[in-house]
Amino acid sequence: MRKLEIDWTPEMDALLGTKTDRKIAVDLGLPRRRVGQRRRELGILPIRYLKWTPEMDALLGTMVDQDVADELGIERSTAFYRREELGIASFGRQGAEIKWAPEMETLLGTKKDLDIAEELGLCQKAVWWRRQELGIPSLKEQNRVLPEGVLCWSGEARQIYRARRRHLREGVLNTLTYEQWKYACEWFDNRCAYCEEKAFLTEDHLRPLSDGGPRTALNIIPACGSCNSSKGPKQAHLWIYEHFGMTKGKEIVEKIVAYLTEVKG
Ligand SMILES: [Zn+2]
Repeated sequence: MRKLEIDWTPEMDALLGTKTDRKIAVDLGLPRRRVGQRRRELGILPIRYLKWTPEMDALLGTMVDQDVADELGIERSTAFYRREELGIASFGRQGAEIKWAPEMETLLGTKKDLDIAEELGLCQKAVWWRRQELGIPSLKEQNRVLPEGVLCWSGEARQIYRARRRHLREGVLNTLTYEQWKYACEWFDNRCAYCEEKAFLTEDHLRPLSDGGPRTALNIIPACGSCNSSKGPKQAHLWIYEHFGMTKGKEIVEKIVAYLTEVKG
């Protein structure tokens, strides 16, 4: 079979590494393999290795992810993941686009988001975000008992609720209070206890849940989503050394031990 000859123009080359090879292949109507080949020939890194500069970061959250992506010539998902990683609220979430009048807000939580959206001529997501922002529970949540130590339904309350349900299912000890969790987050300067990134913090089990690890102040520390999922069901210290190396790993372990010592009192 004759090999397909491709005349790569500078415009085509300029696309490489700005989106996934698959997307570029579709855009140019070429086989994906050939796009990857050309990219490697020119020494261009795949999109997932995109280097974020402070100027690029500054754009995040100032417009919808798709506009940021278009501005930077990258994929929407790339902008989305970077924004999430840095814990920057999305443009829609900040509610910058919609002017909410008090009459509109009084509707929230009185019926389904979808029905309110239709009534106000908005999209369901916009209604959902506004309800979250104001901490108004959905109709479904109003019939549920709030987790102890929580005044109203918020993102955190939801996280606690889901975690408790999970522990109830697994039948392990579950005593972590909202105050203990807040204390843990503050102790680690609202950063991931492992990589020290400022990100949305999730409850990470030192001894994994799958291994019967309880949800107690002595077994839960704050971790970013990426560390939490990378660690998976592994024992914390083993994963730390494997992931961060001996020197940095030792530092992290010592910090966690110091925290646990303090919690033990
Ligand atoms: Zn982390």
